[in-house]
Amino acid sequence: MRAIVVEEGQPTRLRDVPPSFVAPEQGGEGVVVDVEWSSLNYKDGMALGGDRGVVRTSPLVPGIDLVGVVRSVPSGTGDVPGSGGGTGTEVAVGDRVVVTGAGHGERRHGGYAEQAVVDPDSVVVLPDAMTSRRAAAIGTAGVTAMLSVLRLERDVAPGDGPVVVTGAAGGVGSVAIAVLSRLGYSVTASSGRVDEQGDYLRRLGAADLIDRRELGEPGRPLQRARWAGAVDSVGSQTLASLLAQTRPGGVVTACGLAQGSDLPTTVLPFILRGIGLAGIDSVDAPAARRRRVWQRLASDLDLELLDSMTTEIALDDVIAAGPRVLEGRVRGRTVVRVNA
Ligand code: NDP
Repeated sequence: MRAIVVEEGQPTRLRDVPPSFVAPEQGGEGVVVDVEWSSLNYKDGMALGGDRGVVRTSPLVPGIDLVGVVRSVPSGTGDVPGSGGGTGTEVAVGDRVVVTGAGHGERRHGGYAEQAVVDPDSVVVLPDAMTSRRAAAIGTAGVTAMLSVLRLERDVAPGDGPVVVTGAAGGVGSVAIAVLSRLGYSVTASSGRVDEQGDYLRRLGAADLIDRRELGEPGRPLQRARWAGAVDSVGSQTLASLLAQTRPGGVVTACGLAQGSDLPTTVLPFILRGIGLAGIDSVDAPAARRRRVWQRLASDLDLELLDSMTTEIALDDVIAAGPRVLEGRVRGRTVVRVNA
């Protein structure tokens, strides 16, 4: 079968490998999935370039997301659809499933191969109404956006004032804008591509646009309070500015580091305005939260809007696309056709 392989000291390439390359545990504790779709996330761009912060084992099949059909479930469990098979989840042979994160494409093989072995606990069975392609289009970025929204809405209501989404034209940003605006929030999109992508961001539901340089430059730790809340995928000075500009009691969610992993701020926003800084980790989200996230995505994300933010590429095109993600030249979500 075909797989993209990152190997220490070797260029990343598309190879023919035996199924045992990715499925050594076949018949063991893993669920074997015939992969139909994967996607391209920022982290995949890092992995395709051999970044050791992401590539934790060698050789590695990258691809932090995968969607496909269950070929086999762990031995000793049932294979009747919906039986759950004693695995603690409702997964059975023939189910269409999505797996995001859970170490795939980092510390274990991921979605850029025609087969994958996954933990039963990381599997979410797709509802009939959700196509495999759309599930891949949501992927880690969509799950992360929804985790951010779930956290934000605990403290910030739609009527409280504008919420700002950074990295707006990227994957997390695009899904966050679409969901928040559908929920009735007034969304300001912060982007480095306002001229080029302004119409796109407004179509997703952004009420306002700002140039990302407004947030990305050093400033005082407390500034005019503009935002009721924020969804940040950029980190660094941008995250510091969001904390400085959020209204008392507001919440800023932080999931990413597209600008940098530093956070140049002081305690002042926290102790003088009671701002909440909420970290978002989609990789190791527990099973119950994953299911909740997918339920909310099914109800709160306009799937036609999702289609409009989705670009499709073939497995053969992934290696060339990797650097474009890191350069911030990719818009919205990119799905990878593996074997669909
Ligand atoms: P994308 O590449 O799709 O989007 C990132 C966006 O960030 C770009 O489109 C760009 O938006 C903006 N950006 C890029 N470079 C810079 C820069 N130097 N300064 C300011 N903004 C910049 O990535 P994703 O949406 O998939 O991921 C976004 C971030 O979130 C990444 O850091 C990723 O690792 C992280 N992440 C974390 C997860 C978690 O579980 N914690 C899960 C998923 C993602 P624009 O052009 O609009 O300015």
